[in-house]
Amino acid sequence: MLSVDDYRNLVLTGTVPLAPIELPLSDCDGCVLAEDVRAPWPLPSFDNSSMDGYAVRSADVAGAAESSPTRLRVVDDVPAGFRASVEVEPGTAIRIMTGAPIPGGADCVVPVEVTDGGTTDVLIKAPADLGACIRRAGEDVVVGDQVMSAGTLLTARHIALLAAVGRGALRVHPRPRVAVLSTGSELVEPGTELRMGLISDSNSFMLVAAARAAGAIAYRVPPVIDDEDAFLQAVTDQLHRADLILTSGGVSMGAYDTVKAVFSRLGTVDFMKVAMQPGMPQGYGRVGSDSIPVITLPGNPVSSYISFECFVRPVIRTMRGVQPILRVTSPCTLTTEMRSPLNKRQFARGRYVSGHSVEPVGSGQGSHVLGGLSQAECLIVIPEGVDFLAPGSVVDVIDLREDQ
Ligand code: AMP
Ligand code: MG
Repeated sequence: MLSVDDYRNLVLTGTVPLAPIELPLSDCDGCVLAEDVRAPWPLPSFDNSSMDGYAVRSADVAGAAESSPTRLRVVDDVPAGFRASVEVEPGTAIRIMTGAPIPGGADCVVPVEVTDGGTTDVLIKAPADLGACIRRAGEDVVVGDQVMSAGTLLTARHIALLAAVGRGALRVHPRPRVAVLSTGSELVEPGTELRMGLISDSNSFMLVAAARAAGAIAYRVPPVIDDEDAFLQAVTDQLHRADLILTSGGVSMGAYDTVKAVFSRLGTVDFMKVAMQPGMPQGYGRVGSDSIPVITLPGNPVSSYISFECFVRPVIRTMRGVQPILRVTSPCTLTTEMRSPLNKRQFARGRYVSGHSVEPVGSGQGSHVLGGLSQAECLIVIPEGVDFLAPGSVVDVIDLREDQ
């Protein structure tokens, strides 16, 4: 049996960030930038008003006060997106909106709040310093500045700047496209009436959601019956559109374990036992002429989820080019006793009792217990070589709450 770490390393060997492609800006969030970006113009690109008010000459309003306002003639009106048609001469003002270019002749803006809001004449009730309420060209970004470097993970904050410097498309490492196939003749679509022996396919929905949370573009293929030809066809259909194929079910020792049978025949996927609970049967390999990576996950839903967490999430993050690939683990205190198989690493579903203490959740740690999985906020990791933990023991805990 392989250890969790050895199997993860095996799966990660040869996994690299996807080759950069050019994507429209609107599709770039969550992608890693693959080029350095320079500003082709300054930001702001022109002097503009930071307030709705009046563009004036500071000297004209030096004596303005609430009790003795200064009267100026309003000679123009500039909304954002327009330019004034005249300059501000002594004794005049131009009504101006936030973001509109500062008219020639003006050296400050008086906010509308300290005026009477007039449109032909305006009463100014306070003085304004030179430059007041003016956002200067280049005060944010100077033309030619490198505003972002290759390797940046693009979030909303980065997207804003990239748009501001006029980038409608960028070279990025794309999000991997992940095809999720569940297998099992007992599986039906949720919402279908269950006849005896049938169950709703939960794994494919769960894995698509988990893959999306890990940053992939994931999609679901309808469940495939336990038939070798049907499964081979379903996989073949995905080879030209997926960067990673995930399967669930059909990899244990059963007589109808199609996934194992088909991929064993192709000879490119290796099946092994990993010393973990849940999630022992695992498989990894590459298929098709483009060597698309395939990870086969066990069918029991909790096993499938834990396997995804341990192996698939790090693969997706590596393909995206983001760090860290593993979730944060921190030491916590157990509030109850726990048992674990001596030679395996156990990933028990847990919840936080207080900031740094945890307890298991759900009706037992069986690999079919979806109620407990849904309540879990964390995974309690009980290492190999430990079969009993007393209350008060310190354990490593993987926090799952960042997906919320
Ligand atoms: P298998 O690995 O195919 O032998 O499946 C192990 C167990 O997981 C069986 O009880 C299956 O019915 C169940 N199972 C397999 N696939 C799914 C699925 N997609 N959704 C829910 N349960 C599943
Ligand atoms: Mg099955």
